[in-house]
Amino acid sequence: MTSQETVDHKYVYDFAEGNRDLKDLLGGKGANLAEMTNLGLPVPPGFTITTEACQAYLATGREPDGLAGQIEAHLESLERGMGRRLGDPHDPLLVSVRSGAKFSMPGMMETVLNVGLNDRSVVGLAARAGGNERFAWDSYRRLIQMFGKTVCEVPGEEFEHALDEAKRARGTTSDLDLDADDLRGLVDAYKKIFLKHTGRDFPQEPREQLDLAIRAVFESWNAERAVLYRRQERIPADLGTAVNVVAMVFGNLGPDSGTGVAFTRDPASGAQGIYGDYLANAQGEDVVAGIRNTVPLQDLERLDKRSYDELLDIMARLEGHYQDLCDIEFTIERGKLWMLQTRVGKRTAAAAFVIAGQLVDEGLIDLDEALHRVNGAQLAQLMFPRFRLDHDFEPVARGVGASPGAASGKVVFTSARAVELAAEGEAVILVRRETNPDDLNGMIAARGILTSRGGKTSHAAVVARGMGKTCVSGADEIDVNVPAKRFTVAGQTVHEGDVVSIDGTTGKVYLGEVPVTPSEVVRYFEGTLDPHEADDALVGAVHRIMTHADAARRLAVRANADTGADAARARRFGAQGIGLCRTEHMFLGDRRELVERLILARTDTERTDALAALLPLQRDDFVEIFREMDGLPVTVRLIDPPLHEFLPPLEQLAVDVAVAQERGEDVAKEEALLAAVRRMHEENPMLGLRGVRLGLVIPGLFAMQVRAIAEAAVRVTREGGSACPEIMVPLVGAVQELETVRAEAEKIIAEVVGDSGVEVLIGTMIEVPRAALTAGQIAEAAQFFSFGTNDLTQMGWGFSRDDVEGAFFWRYLELGIFGISPFESIDRDGVGRLVRIAAEEGRAARPGLKLGVCGEHGGDPESVHFFHSVGLDYVSCSPFRVPVARLEAGRAAVETVGSDSR
Ligand code: ADP
Ligand code: MG
Ligand code: MG
Repeated sequence: MTSQETVDHKYVYDFAEGNRDLKDLLGGKGANLAEMTNLGLPVPPGFTITTEACQAYLATGREPDGLAGQIEAHLESLERGMGRRLGDPHDPLLVSVRSGAKFSMPGMMETVLNVGLNDRSVVGLAARAGGNERFAWDSYRRLIQMFGKTVCEVPGEEFEHALDEAKRARGTTSDLDLDADDLRGLVDAYKKIFLKHTGRDFPQEPREQLDLAIRAVFESWNAERAVLYRRQERIPADLGTAVNVVAMVFGNLGPDSGTGVAFTRDPASGAQGIYGDYLANAQGEDVVAGIRNTVPLQDLERLDKRSYDELLDIMARLEGHYQDLCDIEFTIERGKLWMLQTRVGKRTAAAAFVIAGQLVDEGLIDLDEALHRVNGAQLAQLMFPRFRLDHDFEPVARGVGASPGAASGKVVFTSARAVELAAEGEAVILVRRETNPDDLNGMIAARGILTSRGGKTSHAAVVARGMGKTCVSGADEIDVNVPAKRFTVAGQTVHEGDVVSIDGTTGKVYLGEVPVTPSEVVRYFEGTLDPHEADDALVGAVHRIMTHADAARRLAVRANADTGADAARARRFGAQGIGLCRTEHMFLGDRRELVERLILARTDTERTDALAALLPLQRDDFVEIFREMDGLPVTVRLIDPPLHEFLPPLEQLAVDVAVAQERGEDVAKEEALLAAVRRMHEENPMLGLRGVRLGLVIPGLFAMQVRAIAEAAVRVTREGGSACPEIMVPLVGAVQELETVRAEAEKIIAEVVGDSGVEVLIGTMIEVPRAALTAGQIAEAAQFFSFGTNDLTQMGWGFSRDDVEGAFFWRYLELGIFGISPFESIDRDGVGRLVRIAAEEGRAARPGLKLGVCGEHGGDPESVHFFHSVGLDYVSCSPFRVPVARLEAGRAAVETVGSDSR
């Protein structure tokens, strides 16, 4: 910039010059003060210094050229308008200096009131207030206190201590009982504190006060707590804050003055009606500081009916104008109402749905807009049961809130015990150091899962989230002793059968049973609560908005489900089919023994026998699933994981064999198993013998599965149902792999299906980067693609999913290499690009190619929007996430490109 441009650059806006669309430049507070000013509402005059000025200050450490002059000019016009001058000893203008960023950061930054008071103007202020000396000295002591604390980092306790001292001397607990002399004395005490900590006298020059306060607000952008808050809320670090300079109005002028906050509806429940607090004879910060007890806003009607009516009127106008719930800060000065702030108010998840529904009823917004105003994260929150912590329960430990919800139950330490007790109707919490695939049945049986190790992407966390099951992981104060069936925490021992409660939202662990309430929203989705009969505004609103989302969305939503029970649940939650049915889960439990026989087979006959024994079991599983999904597509993935996952771990087996040999027992079978485990050991199993490679190497394995699928489909169709199987080959990287599998499969299908009318599609997962890059070739052999975005992310980044999160993701997040784990939300630029390429080239080669996604990302709101934009046909996610995906797919369809979804 040349110096001429710098001088010309506009850094200061009068309230009359701004509007609510200028939040980037004026911050939320400034933009809305301008909006209210232009609506003709009673806002004290003032001006806003832009976020650009703040950015320039933070970059260079000094105010940008031209800023001082513009402030001077705006101050002069403010003084003219008010008929008072800053620091005038006879009739001073006072101002507040208030922070206000684009996104509200409650309590994070600073505000200084009563700027412009000094030893002389305090006398003028008293005279102007009809000789109210008490008021003037009260205002002055507040300035020194706020200025000292905010601008000069004087410890706040020192001022509070002095205030307490003054009250004690007067024999009172209320600051209202302090008279003018007491407060004059307090000002002296405050000045001494100020001098002691800053080495200088409290600045008497009003313009110096103003400039220092503005600078302090700029700098508060980088205060530690603000930095932490931004990181947590994912607010960009370079926005900066605006500064609002506002003529003071006084709520502390006497009993006919006061200050308050209000909401146009209940921000907790969404219920209509005004909510708020009022405090007579007080200045703004007293309300939040809790110095005195506020009264409900409704009491204002009795205290000052005229102001109350005007306030209600303004609130109704604001709601009509913003077409949303607003929150408001106001002050009454001797019976005159002043608006000091408004914004579209924060609200709970429940209130978001209820209010969106009400606004539609009131004709303020349409259903598209209502859909836009809620989101999947809120819906997910509403689906979890909650603890009622109305009694005082103290947590004994705290881990990672890995999968939300609230669960109580008897502690068990093994999967088998969990299944046993659950079968008896007991609620159980499975407690492990960490879980592994063997714990799956126990995890399914348990109400919740508690581990002492692992973070948000540990096995326990990922699987629990997928199932919609409550999980606290990595509660490392807990010392788990599985063989002894107990854990210790905080000096206490918890045995199998003792009851604990875990909160998967906060990560807190409690001993004993904390009562819970089930989610009405889930009861509605499950069909046990009729939205029209439910005397519940929330369920009605959810029903309405979900219905609209379903009508609006272009993406279909399927579920990942491996059992008939899961399939049934998914269907109740609105799934339009199964996008991923994992067959390996059908190899666990008591079938493990058959798998061992398969792996240990030395001859063709032994192997064929083992496969033949597995066939009817698999077929029965598929029959159950096809029945539940009658008429809807079911994508079955052929076996995917490395086979040694079905065998016992090497170390354990080696020890067992050694011990048995020692005892002289017959260990021929165990030795064979051990040899097999050794033979199959892989350094990088995720890149080893798995997926399609198994099918190409182990004769008859895929054939058995294909036969089981086809036979099941034929059976269900003969029963009068309609089965629509889609066979999916995992881990394909080259079209030749798929062609080989497909040729064999088609022969079997033709043989089994005959003239039954069953149609079986054959397609592939796209989860190896090479598959994405050769999608045009692969599409020649595939009737559908399903993107396996977990593996695609793993192989795209070269991240071992099981290892990286605990090892170094924290550092990547800290450095901003990514804002969120790419396993949680799809990395649009890299992995997403692979998806886009494969979708485009696949469809170019085979028009109408069916495209879906079956990774965990299918239930992640951000990712759903991405898949919509790429033009996929469906997403598939865990049953519990299906409503979330439906909602987000609807939102994606109604949202205009580039709209701010925050
Ligand atoms: P926050 O962003 O923390 O809410 P504000 O800048 O809104 O901080 O200031 C806090 C309170 O100070 C306001 O709610 C209001 O009561 C009071 N306040 C701010 N400016 C003025 C003013 N010009 N006149 C009277 N009170 C004010
Ligand atoms: Mg405020
Ligand atoms: Mg995979």
